[in-house]
Amino acid sequence: APVVGVLALQGAFREHRRRLEQLGAEVREVRLPADLAGLQGLVIPGGESTTIGRLMTDYGLWEPVRALYRRGAALFGTCAGAILLAREVHGAPPQFGEQPGLELMDITVQRNAFGRQRESFQTELQVQGLEQPVPAMFIRAPVIERVGPEVEVLARQDEQVVLARQGRLLAASFHPELTPDPRIHRLFLELLPVAVTNS
Ligand code: GLN
Repeated sequence: APVVGVLALQGAFREHRRRLEQLGAEVREVRLPADLAGLQGLVIPGGESTTIGRLMTDYGLWEPVRALYRRGAALFGTCAGAILLAREVHGAPPQFGEQPGLELMDITVQRNAFGRQRESFQTELQVQGLEQPVPAMFIRAPVIERVGPEVEVLARQDEQVVLARQGRLLAASFHPELTPDPRIHRLFLELLPVAVTNS
């Protein structure tokens, strides 16, 4: 079985864990750099990107997660997790100062982009490569407002990019772990390498 980590500092990590286990993965909760050993992939869940980022600083996780990616692992960021993958973030509240990020994926993300009227909503998305629409739950969701040349747009909502892929990086504005449809997680599992190197 593929060995996949779920960053378990804050947010919806249990739901990701359950979904990945249903799909046959062996799942490890990641809180410390040592928990990253041997992973073929890592999910960075939704929650509050400022909080998750602060905890990643406290636990010394930024560089170890980048190193995991460089060794060949796949990364999947959902909602706050997509914000943490992005090379550039707009709309971070100024009182938190500079928001650190992994800066791995060549996208610019705008936080809380759907506004107060539509803070949280569920809809169906037409996803590139999938025949039937996918149910998608948006909760104070970001949008991907710029994609670099190596980024493939997989879905849009209100003309905004909400699902994108760059090689072994997958970013979703919405919460695929909160709806029963397993297809987005399956997409992620298809990005996993057969094995990662040790250093
Ligand atoms: N608005 C949150 C943030 O900016 C993300 C919300 C979510 O992950 N559901 O971090």
